[in-house]
Amino acid sequence: MAKKENSFKGYGINTQAIHTGTAYDEGTGAVRRPLHMANSYKLPDDLSQVNYSSTDLLMYSRNGNPNQHWLEEKIAALHDADDAIVLASGVGALHALFWTLLKTGDRVLYPKVSYMAVYRMFHELFNHKFGVETVMVDMTDLEAVRKAITPGTRLVHIETPDNPTNGVTDIAAIAKIAHENGAVLSVDNTFASPYNQRPLELGADFVVEALTKFINGHGDAQGGAIISNDLSTMDRIRYEAQVNVGSVISPFNAWQIFRGSVTFPLRMQRINESSQKIAEWLEQRENVTFVSYPGLPGNPGHELARRQMKEGYGGVISFGVKADDKAVEKFCAALKVVTFAVSLGHDESLIFPQPSYDERIHLYPEKFRDGFIRFSVGLEEPEDIISDLDQAMKSIGL
Ligand SMILES: *Cc1c(COP(=O)(O)O)cnc(C)c1O
Repeated sequence: MAKKENSFKGYGINTQAIHTGTAYDEGTGAVRRPLHMANSYKLPDDLSQVNYSSTDLLMYSRNGNPNQHWLEEKIAALHDADDAIVLASGVGALHALFWTLLKTGDRVLYPKVSYMAVYRMFHELFNHKFGVETVMVDMTDLEAVRKAITPGTRLVHIETPDNPTNGVTDIAAIAKIAHENGAVLSVDNTFASPYNQRPLELGADFVVEALTKFINGHGDAQGGAIISNDLSTMDRIRYEAQVNVGSVISPFNAWQIFRGSVTFPLRMQRINESSQKIAEWLEQRENVTFVSYPGLPGNPGHELARRQMKEGYGGVISFGVKADDKAVEKFCAALKVVTFAVSLGHDESLIFPQPSYDERIHLYPEKFRDGFIRFSVGLEEPEDIISDLDQAMKSIGL
């Protein structure tokens, strides 16, 4: 596929989010492009040139559909990148990237703290099923990365800020270490989002976004994207993973995420501001044992985050309370404004406890092992969120 169209290159992110990928509908002149719920398309009269594993021709929805392609234009533009591939979920996008890049005998470095499915893929699946050498590394420690990498390592994958502890990893420094050793760097940018952080500009080769989160922003559709300027690898991902493994996005979900993403920069701006306020409030609240948010000057990742996150520090706050697992559940259930559910980056605030019996708790820094909660800040008035947190804490005696 060719480089994605971006006729608004150089414009501000709000203008791009509104205009990229949009056009008049050719048939009707409607100011919105339609939703094409078709799984197949009229074939050309001469079939001799048709490649059934290609994504160049609209032929079958798994090879690509117009709603997917228009969303890809916008996602590429949000990262000022040449190309983006939109798939059915964030994990679908991560898998498509790893599946295409890695083969038996390759070495990959993956983070000690990461999204659960990344841990599963590298801790249990790619190593045991396919003989990929998978090495877990504390990516917030550059010395540890230098020690773990070997010449010919194929891939370094990082996540920053990481899910669920909000640890910050130095993208530019790790890109340099990876490239000096012949590896490529992929960055899961879901927590930061392209409003705050664009890893390709810092030297990363691939970026993954869970569109399900801040970019869609309304908690009503699942999707994921791979973003890169490496057009030939992106075509391999389309061929090897999209068409032949098949985690294709439904046109309806692509249409919904396209619509949600129009207001993404505006929402993110407010979420950054509210999160900063709420993190500062939590920090001074009694019985809060720690607050991990890169915007707080006392956080270990703060100086680095100031350098690589441009507009703000994102919408997830990781914090601890002086309470056992049962009391934390009661606290979450007592919230009225905040929704007790997994996921993050919705319009509504979401809370999700990380219990002390979680199988990965030993991988997190010491202070995260008791009373740890992941909080995703929504668009409600920050004062309402704060009083809700306060009343629910009081309800369990904090
Ligand atoms: C949610 C999430 C994903 C996965 O996205 P899905 O759409 O749920 O598959 C990947 N990485 C991070 C950091 C996430 O928060």
